[in-house]
Amino acid sequence: MLSITFLGTGAACPSVERNVAGLALAREGETLLFDCGEGTQRQMMRYGVSFAFREIFFTHYHADHMLGVTGLMRTMGLQDRTLPVTLYGPRGADRVLGAAIGLGIERNRFPIDIKEIAAGERIRRDDYDIVVFPADHRADTVGFALVEHTRLGRFNPERARKLGVPEGPLWGKLHKGETVELPDGRRLGPEDLVGQPRRGRTVVYTGDTRPTLGVIEVARGADLLIHDSTFGEEERARAEETGHSTAAQAAEVAREAGARRLVLTHISPRYTREAPELLAEAKAVFPESIVARDGLTIDVPFVD
Ligand SMILES: [Zn+2]
Ligand SMILES: [Zn+2]
Repeated sequence: MLSITFLGTGAACPSVERNVAGLALAREGETLLFDCGEGTQRQMMRYGVSFAFREIFFTHYHADHMLGVTGLMRTMGLQDRTLPVTLYGPRGADRVLGAAIGLGIERNRFPIDIKEIAAGERIRRDDYDIVVFPADHRADTVGFALVEHTRLGRFNPERARKLGVPEGPLWGKLHKGETVELPDGRRLGPEDLVGQPRRGRTVVYTGDTRPTLGVIEVARGADLLIHDSTFGEEERARAEETGHSTAAQAAEVAREAGARRLVLTHISPRYTREAPELLAEAKAVFPESIVARDGLTIDVPFVD
């Protein structure tokens, strides 16, 4: 299972309709947070996001993306947390995040590690990578893509039994693509027993950005693209000045990338909760678009 819950979908400052930036990604029992605007912890409680997460990934240090980390760490301290937390962010991480987590307390009650990351890095995990890519917002702003590794093809147990392969380690070896020797001396390859490798899923979160080729590149064939969509077309010049995208620009990126689905987020407080004008402008370019709202959860299934 892989799902995204939008904790905050507004730009710049909280409104009655939308909290500021925050995203929870749940995958195979693990929770990752991306950005942590003011009030994120309350949104987590409201929308049932686990506090047992271990990592927060920050796109940049504008207040609407990071002010929530102070209160969230305080609350977890009060809950007698012992699990460590790692905070990842672009240049300045130690200074900015270090200051944020030091506020209002003498010492943290659980280990908090701060790791500076840069565009171009890949944080490797057992079965996915977090790819850090450059955004075009201001210096040292990045976006993140979760890219699952290609999975092994499906193993056919009936066929294995029929061919006389005893259940056990040989099955595992064949599944991984190895040729094995059976107890009776026959040698057997995986060709007949294992299907084609299956593509993993990709979710891309741009954070704040103007439309860029870099995002198109990283979102190539992505299952889900979550893109800055602060303004509508009538504010195109303002979007450019402030380093943000319009809904139509986000949709153009999704179309160029051949993404499956687009979610518009980081919506200016000038728009209503449904933001019909942003939705219409995006759909005209890329039909598989929706506007995020706080509390929205999106499942990202495997395609096959
Ligand atoms: Zn922002
Ligand atoms: Zn920003």
